[in-house]
Amino acid sequence: MKSLEDSIQFIKSVGPKRSESFAKVGIKTARDLLFYFPTRYIDRSTLLTSSKAFMYVENGYEGEITILGKVIKKELRNFGRKQTLTVSMKDSDGFFDCIWFQGVKFFKDRFNESDIFLISAKPTISRYGNLQFIHPDFDKITDEETQTFYNTGKIIPLYRIPKDLKSANIGDLSFRKIVSAAIDSHLSLITETLPPDVITKHKLLDLPSAVANLHYPSDSVTLDNARKRLKYEELFYLEVLVALRKKSIKTKQNGIRFEIKTGLLSSFIKHLPFTLTPSQLKVLGEIKKDMLSPQIMNRLLQGDVGSGKTIVALIAMLIAADNGYQSVIMVPTEILSDQHYKNFRGIFERFSNQYPQRKIKIAVVIGSQPSKVRQSNLDLIKSGEADIVVGTHALFEENVDFNNLGLVIIDEQHRFGVVQRAKLLAKGLSPDILVMSATPIPRTLSMTLYGDLDVSTITGMPSNRLPIKTFLRGESRLPDIYNFIVSHAKQGTQSFIVYPLVEDSEKLELKAALTYYNDLTQTFLANIRVGLIHGKMKWKEKEDVMLSFAAGEFDVLISTTVIEVGIDVPNANIVLINDAHRFGLTQLHQLRGRVGRGNMQAYCILVTKDELIAASNRINTDIEYLSPLQLERYRAGIRLQSMVKHLDGFKIAEIDFKLRGPGDIFGVKQSGFPDLKFADITTDSDILFEAKKDAFELIDTDPQFLKPPNKIVKSNLLSHYSENLKYAKIG
Ligand code: ADP
Ligand code: MG
Repeated sequence: MKSLEDSIQFIKSVGPKRSESFAKVGIKTARDLLFYFPTRYIDRSTLLTSSKAFMYVENGYEGEITILGKVIKKELRNFGRKQTLTVSMKDSDGFFDCIWFQGVKFFKDRFNESDIFLISAKPTISRYGNLQFIHPDFDKITDEETQTFYNTGKIIPLYRIPKDLKSANIGDLSFRKIVSAAIDSHLSLITETLPPDVITKHKLLDLPSAVANLHYPSDSVTLDNARKRLKYEELFYLEVLVALRKKSIKTKQNGIRFEIKTGLLSSFIKHLPFTLTPSQLKVLGEIKKDMLSPQIMNRLLQGDVGSGKTIVALIAMLIAADNGYQSVIMVPTEILSDQHYKNFRGIFERFSNQYPQRKIKIAVVIGSQPSKVRQSNLDLIKSGEADIVVGTHALFEENVDFNNLGLVIIDEQHRFGVVQRAKLLAKGLSPDILVMSATPIPRTLSMTLYGDLDVSTITGMPSNRLPIKTFLRGESRLPDIYNFIVSHAKQGTQSFIVYPLVEDSEKLELKAALTYYNDLTQTFLANIRVGLIHGKMKWKEKEDVMLSFAAGEFDVLISTTVIEVGIDVPNANIVLINDAHRFGLTQLHQLRGRVGRGNMQAYCILVTKDELIAASNRINTDIEYLSPLQLERYRAGIRLQSMVKHLDGFKIAEIDFKLRGPGDIFGVKQSGFPDLKFADITTDSDILFEAKKDAFELIDTDPQFLKPPNKIVKSNLLSHYSENLKYAKIG
């Protein structure tokens, strides 16, 4: 009996020896091979000759072109200290050049006289009228293959062939032969993984046809359909997992049903030094509704930096306190914990004068607190005396005994995943959860990362704010900027001066921080008060500096780290960010959010290399003709200009997201969701929305997969998604 789990050695022309090499690259079974897809295809219809390609470019064609040619010579040219590589090639009706500005040494050895290559890139025409490809993709082709390209109208698959296979003498051609053999012998064993109604509804290819067409597409339309089918499948299962998670949280009936018991809440809101914005009131309403219902709250509160999330959280915590429950608010750093702690204590001290019948008590747990202080705080928490507990995210890891935990708030943490939530549940706790984030997440991503959370969004800012003025300046302008800071300092406005983190070495960081400090205090900032905060300080030292700054004891705070999310010094209204191109956009937006938190005009000055500014100002630059280095500068400059143009964090996140892709910014990897191999949540949003609809409908109507057509989904979940099911129970 044949099976997809058959060892690859039984596929024709593999055998025991080669199968060992296959195993090294993770291809062990027939299934593994059938699901090892080409990374590129060569379609004869887009394969041009050099004279045709030349015509295309002259007529303004802007797409990629693939061309087949033979190397006639390679040449290194020197431009000052830089070297470039030019590989000249010829094909049946002309000549063309391939040019590299970077990695010259590497590419030089790839090209030898008489070798035949497939070259793909967006071609340009040089000053001397030559057709040229700058930094093209290329594949070396054997003579035999060259024939097939010209003789058949097929789309040819190109596989990534790892070293271990190459060294076992498995090249492009033999790999393709082995895949064909596997298709002949095992394709028919592949069974469908999607319910039939879904397939019909979206006119999807069935799985075996999709797999066959990904290897050997019959035409480009079918290839697209095959890809779509696999993308759909991936996103469908992703959303089934999201739906299951959401369901398993929602159906837990042992959540707390809070009540509004006394006048505590209304009195607190009445005595605030400001009135809540309509948007704050709206999200508060949504949170209240969740808290008063018996289901567990799982809500994401989004709001731009400075939009006033903290006060909303505080009010939620008061509801818990009013019901005799404790709340905990967790923040990313010890400094922030400390700031929240002192801020809350201040607020409630004032409030207790107006509302003496209920005193709210706050505890704080910080890793590096003196053990006595820590113990007394832990005691307050254990006895239930503390109503509100402040700490870092590390609180999850520590052995803090709560007396009666009812509400967990996670501040500034867009990575708070299911994993942590699972930990809480494992401790036998099922408190309401509110996650707060100032990093606005594009909808497609929040749908998956937070698809199991309900979302509230604070739109707009408190009405007392003036828009922050943002400038982008070259380093040569620094003296003017320092003068600007000094003149404002004399009128009582404080400033941050931020340097990017020196990541390589601890010693270097300290040295850099001290150098900046010494240089500035001996020159431009000699006559004002300057503080320094850097990553090598103990948190207590940092705290002291932050507190003095907040108390107005310095005019300027030089920082090489950590004035990150959440620090609130309303009198600081200028932030100067050095080497701004080294920060991500979201980070820059966060840093900018450190100012403009009161009713004064605030300024954010982004400083970068003069060349970047110059590059980005060449608005009508013909990008084609930029060298890779120039292109890189141009992009960096344009990226920074978007900070000048946009104040809205959502807009900036969207741009950042497009530029960098979702993975590392938002921590998709830590979310406990499967990796996506085919789909891309940024570009496949249409498929994502469809898949989500289908998946949620299925889980709503048939959570146990009892209907016959849905059994497929259950068995596929169990066999291929068992890892992910740890966080999402079936049924
Ligand atoms: P974030 O949403 O970034 O966490 P905060 O909660 O720290 O922002 O709020 C920023 C500042 O705005 C704080 O100083 C806070 O007291 C103030 N604030 C909050 N809500 C209002 C309001 N409705 N009107 C005026 N100021 C407000
Ligand atoms: Mg905050």
